[in-house]
Amino acid sequence: MVEIDENLIGKEVLEMAFDRCIKCSTCKYSYKDFEKSCPSGERFLFESYWASGKIRIIRGVVTGELEWSEDLKDAIFACPTCGACMDACQAPHADYIVDMIEALRELAVKHIGPATNQEFLVSRCEENCNPYGESNSDNEELKKQFNLPDKADWVYYIGCTSNYRQQSLRDSTLRFLKKSGINFTLIDEHCCTSPMIRTGQLSIVKDYMNYNIAQIKNTGATKVITSCAGCYRTFKKDFEKFGEEYDFEVFHTLELVKQLLDDDKLKFKSEYNKTVTYHDPCHLGRHMGVYELPRVIYKQIPGLKLVEMKRNRNFAWCCGAGGGVKIGYPEWSVEISKERLDEAKETEATVISSVCPFCRTNLSDANDNYNFDFEVLDLMEIIDQLDIEIEK
Ligand code: SF4
Ligand code: SF4
Repeated sequence: MVEIDENLIGKEVLEMAFDRCIKCSTCKYSYKDFEKSCPSGERFLFESYWASGKIRIIRGVVTGELEWSEDLKDAIFACPTCGACMDACQAPHADYIVDMIEALRELAVKHIGPATNQEFLVSRCEENCNPYGESNSDNEELKKQFNLPDKADWVYYIGCTSNYRQQSLRDSTLRFLKKSGINFTLIDEHCCTSPMIRTGQLSIVKDYMNYNIAQIKNTGATKVITSCAGCYRTFKKDFEKFGEEYDFEVFHTLELVKQLLDDDKLKFKSEYNKTVTYHDPCHLGRHMGVYELPRVIYKQIPGLKLVEMKRNRNFAWCCGAGGGVKIGYPEWSVEISKERLDEAKETEATVISSVCPFCRTNLSDANDNYNFDFEVLDLMEIIDQLDIEIEK
């Protein structure tokens, strides 16, 4: 067996590349109707871009049969880590394929560096604690605006995309949380580290995780709520992978909305008379197995007609923003979203909705670039438009 550097976070999953994949190619298409499912393979149409090829690259570079070179970069980094391959593959390593791709990236960053522009994800964080390069918000202004305490039971972890790019989603969430009556506050956040983990750039990850845990602890909160599928996955899955423990519970806003509906505390007092199609964020769907929860909520909104795209739930086509693709391959990233909007068009919905600020960003970009006429809205923004009553 080839020796793999003990210090690599992804060491264990890299070992899977040696004896698990049988190169059957099942990962290339959805097992339902053999629909296209892998944005990377479909765009580049070359074996190395599908999951099976990436696993082959791991074997090659670890054994030394394949030399590290710049030519490998696109095959390694041009993939939104959507996880459609995990869903399609029927072999025992299926659930670990995205981890394997991330481990390959960890290795690649050491040997050939990240893909073009992905290095900014780290350098901007080092300067401003967020990958957008925006001046860091310590969220004190928002705390004043929403009259939030320093100590609380809950922390709303806003996440960089909502805080710096999708403030309508952020503010809709803040208004909902205020109406819900939960005792919550905000922290001076560092990035959750999702963009760095997805692109194999791990230098600041553990420090950032420790920082966020300490900030949350300072508030005395025992519950953290986020409106971002990426932050949710990172807190729920990646902190443990990096050996960072915390003693608070983590929720997506969906879970609070659903709980309030189940307890008969949340009442919708007005109607939303539009046809809506739901886009499953990869980080919430295939990565975390959350498919029905959002659908149950949309269906309880009076007047709202929920229609499904052809590829939905575990078969959903990715929005194209994740895995460092938005910054590394910006034009292609939006082309992936265009394919999603073409599919949404077939449903005759006028609203495409999701529960992730990153999906909202990329779907909006495609909507604008390709002159679709959808309203692109997060579920929290739809709820914000309604007259609601929450029993406290
Ligand atoms: S990753 Fe899974 S589906 Fe793809 S070739 Fe290997 S065993 Fe087959
Ligand atoms: S994660 Fe998505 S884009 Fe990447 S290889 Fe798997 S199916 Fe293809």
